[in-house]
Amino acid sequence: MRRIDIFDTTLRDGEQSAGINLNTVEKLEIARQLEKLGVAVIEAGFPASSPGDFEAVQRIANTVKNSTVTGLARAMKKDIDISWEALRGGEQPHIHVFLATSPIHMEYKLKKTPDEVVDIAVDAVKYAKQFFPLVQWSAEDAFRSEPEFLVRIINKVIAAGATTINIPDTVGYATPQEYGALFKYLKENVTGVEKVKLSAHCHDDLGMAVANSIAAVENGADQVECTINGIGERAGNASLEEIAVAMHIRKDFYNMDTGINLQEIKRSSQLVSRLTGVVIQPNKAVVGKNAFAHESGIHQDGMLKNRQTYEIITPELIGETDMPLALGKHSGRHAFKDRAVSMGFELSDKQLNEAFDDFKKLADRKKEITEDDLFVLFTGQQLSDTDTPIYELHNVQVQYGTSNIPTATVTATVPSGETVTVATTGSGSVESIFNALELVIKGEVLILDYRVTSIGKGRDALGEAVVNLSYNGLELKGRDVAQDVLEASAKAYLNAINRQLVRERLRTQELIK
Ligand SMILES: [Zn+2]
Repeated sequence: MRRIDIFDTTLRDGEQSAGINLNTVEKLEIARQLEKLGVAVIEAGFPASSPGDFEAVQRIANTVKNSTVTGLARAMKKDIDISWEALRGGEQPHIHVFLATSPIHMEYKLKKTPDEVVDIAVDAVKYAKQFFPLVQWSAEDAFRSEPEFLVRIINKVIAAGATTINIPDTVGYATPQEYGALFKYLKENVTGVEKVKLSAHCHDDLGMAVANSIAAVENGADQVECTINGIGERAGNASLEEIAVAMHIRKDFYNMDTGINLQEIKRSSQLVSRLTGVVIQPNKAVVGKNAFAHESGIHQDGMLKNRQTYEIITPELIGETDMPLALGKHSGRHAFKDRAVSMGFELSDKQLNEAFDDFKKLADRKKEITEDDLFVLFTGQQLSDTDTPIYELHNVQVQYGTSNIPTATVTATVPSGETVTVATTGSGSVESIFNALELVIKGEVLILDYRVTSIGKGRDALGEAVVNLSYNGLELKGRDVAQDVLEASAKAYLNAINRQLVRERLRTQELIK
């Protein structure tokens, strides 16, 4: 079977899509999950774009061992230098340098002639190669570039030391036939093409990102760039889970292997959705809520007689499990710790103890603890790793009656270390809590969006709240989980504010440097 490398860009192309803003700890958490998922390359960010991106890429490169970690860089020394600082701690330092090659990008964006573009690309790759053993070079907007020019520049870039050549359809304009033909043409005409990996990178503007990626692979691409849940710039990137599952289910046809651990797909998808706040559409292939639901009577009847009548993918394949957890109210610390390890978490003793306390509290209130609940508890502990003084909720109490004025009392620690208690009213329970929190943080807050969902099934399922708010003119997103949706809402609100505090601390540190 031919091996196809999966290059995940959830943390770079995915993270740069509208409304997403992950902090370092969240990015690290996603990177760890991508490592478990078995992706060959993790694009962790764009180190030169901001101190936050730099810090995240550096921590990921220093942590992840089983996937290659890369970062994006413009074709300039400054970007390559910063990327080296961020990525040098990785197992196999890898950089992704890009430069546009289409006539429209060269003329209007870069304001350079094709000859100048060739020189800049070659110089950048040569410079990067002094530091990095693995250098990927991307021809931005490759699909709309002149194929003859692509051959010319790729020949030179390979001679300069590039180890991977990426041919992105940056604007999502290609059709599968054309995109496949471009790879075939490059395979036949580029000198030294057998020494490098060819990579596909597709966007979903016309809904063809996955089909285009697979067409590229059929015509010689060795690597596909994609994201979890297909998140990304505009309509998104090719969806990782769709490519991996298509290759698996139709291996009779493709005869290719992605090395992806399919059992980790559902968890990866949920983690990314939870941390980015981007909801997965119910009918999304592979990971949508309805992807395995059979609604019509004829289909249900068939399924009961033989599942294969209408089911080509089983939920179990992607790690969905309804198995009851052998952990409950009476479980000891030891069994709990074993479970964390078997689920792949590396928690400190302090984090484990805190997770265990949360687990006991939850077990008191919830009849059946599921693996999803545990996953939320463990990731919650891993995400709580911050040394910035922040707002912390201690207590929230709401008085509500259909004919009363809702009143909320909130007790919280503020960044100065002081504990404050405030009470106020609102037109509903949630509004009264948000009004009270506004008094705690003493800022101007406008709620832009607010959403509550359940994690798993059952009337005692954990509730998750996502709040989009504008704080002193800045648009922020927060989320948190609790057994009660009112508590989750209060925590999500403070989470949005806290994330801004952490970001400001990073910026201040950068200024001090
Ligand atoms: Zn892209």
